[in-house]
Amino acid sequence: MKIGVLALQGAFIEHIKMLEGLGATAVEVRLPEHLEGLDGLIIPGGESTTIGKLAVMYDLMEPLRQFAMEHPVWGTCAGMIFMAKDVGADQPLLGIMDIVVERNAFGRQIDSFETNLDVSVFKNGQGKPFPAVFIRAPKLVDAKGEATVIARLADGTAVAAQQGQWLVTSFHPELTGDDRFHRYFLGLIGK
Ligand code: GLN
Repeated sequence: MKIGVLALQGAFIEHIKMLEGLGATAVEVRLPEHLEGLDGLIIPGGESTTIGKLAVMYDLMEPLRQFAMEHPVWGTCAGMIFMAKDVGADQPLLGIMDIVVERNAFGRQIDSFETNLDVSVFKNGQGKPFPAVFIRAPKLVDAKGEATVIARLADGTAVAAQQGQWLVTSFHPELTGDDRFHRYFLGLIGK
């Protein structure tokens, strides 16, 4: 399997290492032609306004939307913001997923934290919880239409969703050493 990681800014190296650890070929995507021949794409965490500006500058917006229509795409943190249709602010977005996202939604004191999550698609209710690292993370305020919430914090806040072949997480599975999200994403390929 050949998976692209959008490498304009942010935590792309960590995703590449996780993918390689699972035996996939990981490709850094910086230009439209780098999307050719890929089976899926990860959009990493970082700063969504910067990722958006660079994607506009490198003429990636339409090629990324086109790629997403045909392949699995997973956005972590800033990547989730970039995939959303509505973030309540004016910044370049792919605007593909039917989710409403609030940026930097966890307040200053706890703008970074780690917690254990039950992720419905892993069926881990009785098993091992998923360690989730949140860094100035966004919240999923709403998931509409085909988009389904797949993980919530203990207080009910939605932090991961799936819409067909698209996945979003407000946290950073590439920073924990637990590769279940990366495995789950690879499992979406070819479905
Ligand atoms: N706060 C960042 C943003 O708004 C996201 C943070 C992250 O990706 N860790 O884009």
